Amino acid sequence: MSIIAVTGAASGIGAAVCNHLEAAGHTLIRVDRANADVNADLSTSDGRRAAVEQTLAACNNQLDAVVACAGVGVTAPSISLIVGVNYFGVTEYIDGLEEALAASGKGKAVIIGSVAGSHQVEAPHAMADAMLNNDEAEACRIAEASQEPHTTYAASKYAVTVYGRRKSIAWGKRGMRLNIIAPGAVETPLHQASKDDPRFGEAVKNFVAPMGRSGVPDEIADGVDFLLSDHSAFVNGSVLFIDGGMDAMVRSTRF
Ligand code: NAD
Repeated sequence: MSIIAVTGAASGIGAAVCNHLEAAGHTLIRVDRANADVNADLSTSDGRRAAVEQTLAACNNQLDAVVACAGVGVTAPSISLIVGVNYFGVTEYIDGLEEALAASGKGKAVIIGSVAGSHQVEAPHAMADAMLNNDEAEACRIAEASQEPHTTYAASKYAVTVYGRRKSIAWGKRGMRLNIIAPGAVETPLHQASKDDPRFGEAVKNFVAPMGRSGVPDEIADGVDFLLSDHSAFVNGSVLFIDGGMDAMVRSTRF
């Protein structure tokens, strides 16, 4: 059985992922702002460093997998928070655990991205480029100047997907794997907050996948189960859309 760190473990998709992995017998290191094994704020560099240090201590520097679920949506209290949690809260955490993952022999990671990452952002994109250049201050400056939470959310998910795909190349050569899941709308507190928002709640409610419903967290956790298992032993650098057909509906000619 494996030792697996899961961020965003206290709610929604992360909580469902933990339930699945625990039921399968794995040992979990739950990471979240509170009510977790590792309580840390992934929106700040100090918090990310603390999360890495505590995770390394909990796994004794040898970790089988990371599932990076923690994220904030378009109703986040500040636009910079979207950049800080959704991009740097993923990349600095995974970077910090890379050697512990290598030490396990065939470390794996799954990043929870979003369909939004391929729908609203086209490269080159200054905000996404700043993230990919590891320039958090510049990415936050562009995001705050835009005052566009949807664009910032999409840019954070686009950039974290590019980060994951680039990293999977080096990882593949070391026998490690990194994949991305791009969920569509999933019934969680994050999605509910978007639907309840007076600014864009109607648009969110009306943007429905071809299957005519939102997903549930267990359906994303099923994808994580697959990507961490030997059934996906040759899957690396992939983006798995679990979205009821939303991506096919929006951009059927691009894949
Ligand atoms: P959620 O709000 O239910 O869970 C998010 C978790 O992340 C919470 O437990 C929260 O405490 C944690 N988190 C937030 N900020 C943090 C911080 N600074 N430090 C540590 N932990 C922090 O939301 P969810 O819908 O389960 O979202 C999980 C992931 O799925 C996110 O990355 C989100 O962007 C992505 N996603 C969700 C949907 C959807 O429709 N729900 C769609 C696409 C992608």
